[in-house]
Amino acid sequence: MVDFIGIERVRELVGALSPQRFIAELAGEIAADFRRWEQFDKSARHAVHSPVGVIELMPTSDGRLYSFKYVNGHPKNTSEGLLTVTAFGVLSDVNSGYPLLLSELTLTTALRTAATSALAARHMARADSRVMALIGNGAQSEFQSIAFHHMLGIRELRLYDTDPGATAKLVDNLAQLRLAGLKVVACRSTAHAVEGADIITTVTADKRNATILTPDMVAAGAHINAVGGDCPGKTELHADILAGRDTRVVVEFEPQSRIEGEIQQMPADFAVTELTQVLTGRAPGRATAHEVTIFDSVGFALEDFSSLRYLQRIHQAERGLRRTVDLVPDLEDPKNLFGLLTRDSRSGDKTATRPPARVSA
Ligand code: NAD
Repeated sequence: MVDFIGIERVRELVGALSPQRFIAELAGEIAADFRRWEQFDKSARHAVHSPVGVIELMPTSDGRLYSFKYVNGHPKNTSEGLLTVTAFGVLSDVNSGYPLLLSELTLTTALRTAATSALAARHMARADSRVMALIGNGAQSEFQSIAFHHMLGIRELRLYDTDPGATAKLVDNLAQLRLAGLKVVACRSTAHAVEGADIITTVTADKRNATILTPDMVAAGAHINAVGGDCPGKTELHADILAGRDTRVVVEFEPQSRIEGEIQQMPADFAVTELTQVLTGRAPGRATAHEVTIFDSVGFALEDFSSLRYLQRIHQAERGLRRTVDLVPDLEDPKNLFGLLTRDSRSGDKTATRPPARVSA
């Protein structure tokens, strides 16, 4: 039997801990895995594009465990009542190749993306950052808000979305959460939202090279958490922000980010730093208070690996909806796979198979 974690179980697990604690603990798992970067098998994800979206497979392994995530990105989906991003994934035992866990990863992707954003910002944003502009107030936005309030100490969120309904939804959800000392301001434009912001998070969805931020909107010393540009031809930042003289760009896995990140707009020799370098102290996340730092996030398989392993651990430890799924045959004789089709299912006995047919002379 394979462990199964569905939407209800994730709701239960996050509810038992609180979203804040779940995100902070997951950020710790992700950081620990980024620090042992060399142990992971790494490749740019496999993407199948269509005119309206992308479907991607994201595998990785540390030699003991293997994971993959299936994820889509369809910005037009919300106009049809569907999510832009959905996902599920599998964690397996490398030794036997057997899957150990099948899990939903839609909610979990939002949690792990927020955890990774806040983790990077802890090393890249100025320590006195208290105001964050949040551009794009869709499905990911509450998770980003919670992570930055809890892990960075953000005390003012300045919101903007081209859809006022999305901003109203976020304001409402944040009010219900009653995050201590958090002021929430709905703004009339991106330019208005970035006024006085120490951190700017862009988490919009549009299948094109959008220009959400231009250089005049970014003050010296700001940190940009660029989350929504994550596909070829799908970016959020004006290239001149990246090219700025006092700018530092950190990516997750450089070969994948060259294809999918904001840096797809830049020449192949444009200098970037990988997050592992920053988390292991081999490179600074920020050198001066004036530097503009950019976390060019696209989402890397390792973050889902950490999430699946963390989910499985708390799934096994927490009471409640512990479900398994019969994804892999459980056989007395592994060479008798066919016996599964002929055994008496009513007996529930995995050894009970119908007597072999008589061979007539
Ligand atoms: P969503 O569709 O629920 O929300 C996106 C929001 O952006 C919408 O409310 C939309 O109105 C708004 N928007 C679009 N263009 C805008 C503009 N020019 N200015 C302001 N707002 C604008 O999508 P989501 O699930 O919240 O995902 C947001 C983005 O993050 C997507 O592009 C997705 O692919 C990306 N994403 C990245 C990662 C990662 O690891 N980097 C993980 C998950 C999602």
